[in-house]
Amino acid sequence: MEKILGSLYELVVETSTKLPKDVRRAIAKAKLSESAGTRAAMSLATITNNIKMADENVSPICQDTGLPTFKIKTPVGVNQLKIKDAIYKAMAEATKHGKLRPNSVDSLTGDNSGDNLGPGTPVIKFEQWEEDYIDARLILKGGGCENKNIQYSLPTELEGLGRAGRDLDGIRKCIMHSVYQAQGQGCSAGFIGVGIGGDRTSGYELAKEQLFRSNDDTNPVEELRQLEEYVMENANKLGIGTMGFGGETTLLGCKVGVMNRIPASFFVSVAYNCWAFRRLGMKINPETGEIMEWLYQDGDMIDFKDEQVEEASDKKDSREVVLTAPITEEQIRELKVGDVVRITGRMYTGRDAIHKYLMDNDAPVDLNGQIIYHCGPVMMKDEDGNWHVKAAGPTTSIREEPYQGDIMKKFGIRAVIGKGGMGAKTLAALKEHGGVYLNAIGGAAQYYADCIKGVDGVDLMKFGIPEAMWHLNVEDFTAVVTMDSHGNSLHEDVEKSSLEKLEQFKEPVFK
Ligand code: SF4
Repeated sequence: MEKILGSLYELVVETSTKLPKDVRRAIAKAKLSESAGTRAAMSLATITNNIKMADENVSPICQDTGLPTFKIKTPVGVNQLKIKDAIYKAMAEATKHGKLRPNSVDSLTGDNSGDNLGPGTPVIKFEQWEEDYIDARLILKGGGCENKNIQYSLPTELEGLGRAGRDLDGIRKCIMHSVYQAQGQGCSAGFIGVGIGGDRTSGYELAKEQLFRSNDDTNPVEELRQLEEYVMENANKLGIGTMGFGGETTLLGCKVGVMNRIPASFFVSVAYNCWAFRRLGMKINPETGEIMEWLYQDGDMIDFKDEQVEEASDKKDSREVVLTAPITEEQIRELKVGDVVRITGRMYTGRDAIHKYLMDNDAPVDLNGQIIYHCGPVMMKDEDGNWHVKAAGPTTSIREEPYQGDIMKKFGIRAVIGKGGMGAKTLAALKEHGGVYLNAIGGAAQYYADCIKGVDGVDLMKFGIPEAMWHLNVEDFTAVVTMDSHGNSLHEDVEKSSLEKLEQFKEPVFK
C-alpha cells in the first residue's frame, strides 16, 4: 500500500483541475443549443475557455474547491485507517500546492485551518464490499451550489405548481421547483441528484449519491427513467439559462434514486451541482496502492481546444463599456442592464468577513469610486514573498445582501462584481447612491485569474486567504451589468418569467 498516498493525491488534483468526460459532453451539447451572440453563448464560451485553461495550467477549475467528499469501498481486510491517513496527507499536500483552496473553517471562531483539515473536513465514507479492488471516488462541491440544495416534505404547496402530493407527480413537481428556486445562483447550468424517501439525513445522502452516477447512464427503475427524461426535457423550458442570464439550457443532468421511508415521512431531497461538476474516481490495487483504472472516462474526450472564444464585442444583445476605477456617479448612471463591462485597473476583493467588518469599522483603503469583487481566491506565495493568483472566479453575492447597500453608501463604492445577483435592498441602494452590480461568470476561475496582472497588496489577512481584502490589478476583466442604477434587475426579470413558465407544469403528468 506504499503507493496509496500518491494515488489519492492524483485523485484530488485531477478532480480539482480536470472535468470528467461525461460533464464536458453535457456542456458541449449545451453550447450548441445557444444562439450565437447571446449572453448565454458568451457565458458558455467563457466556461469552455476556463475548462481548457484549467487543463493546461493544472489549476483549479473553480476557486471554490468545496467540501471534499470521498467515497471509498474496500475489500474485506484492507486497513481503512491507513487510507484515511493517506487522504489527510493528500489533502494537505494538494492545498499547499494551490490545487485546493483552504476551505476548512472553524464554525464558531471563523478560523481557517489552512490545510483543509479539521473536524468534519474532508468527509470520508467507507464501505466494505466483495470486489477485490479499492474503489475511491471524490466530489468537490462548492458552496454556491451546496446552498441551493433543497428538501421537500410531502405533501406541500409549491410556488407556481400548487399542491405536491405523496406520489410520483408530487415528486415531479418538487424536482421542477428545485431547478426554479436555484435560478442562476448555483452557477447554472447545473446537474441535480434527487433522493426520494429516507429521513432528512439519509434523503440528502441519497441525493448526493446520485451525483456519483455517470451523466450518460440510464436509470434501471422504469418510473425513474421516465421522470429523469421528463425533467431534462422540461426544466430547460424554464428559460433560466447559464448563470441565470436566460437561455436554452438550465439543466445538464438529472439523476433520481429511491429508498424506503417510514409511513409518517415523505422527503424529496435535491442536491444541486454547478456546471463545474468535479467528481472523479479510480480503482486502486489493495496490495500496492497503485491506480488500476480511472473512472468516468468512457467515451470521447472534449478538450475545447479548437473552439473560438467569443468576444464580448460580438454580442448582438449587448453594448460594451470600458471602466477604470475610480468611477464617477455619472459613468455608473450611463450603464444599463445587459451592458458588457471590461474593467482595467484596480479592484478589491471582499466577501463575507470583509462585509461584516466594514459595517462597524473603517476601510483599510480609500474605497471611494472603487470596485469590490466578491471573490475568495486561491493564492500562492513565491520564495520572494510575492503573491500569485491561482484561481479567482466570483462567489455568490446574495450572502452580502444584508450589508451591501449600506457599505456602498458608507464608503462611496460604485460597483460590485459577483455572481447570482442580489436582492431588493441592494437594488434600492444602487438606485439611490448610483451603483451597479456586475455579474461575472461563476466558476470561471482560470479565466479571471488570467485577467489579474498583479497583486498590489492585501489587508485583513487575519480573516484567512479567501476572506482577506486583496488589491488586484486587472486587465480586460469582463462582466455583465445585471442590476443597474435605474431600478432594473435582470435577475428579477428572469425569476419572474421563469415562474410564469413553471406554472405550465402544474397539471398532473404521472397519474
Ligand atoms: S462554479 Fe459556482 S457554484 Fe460551483 S463551486 Fe464554483 S462558484 Fe461555487
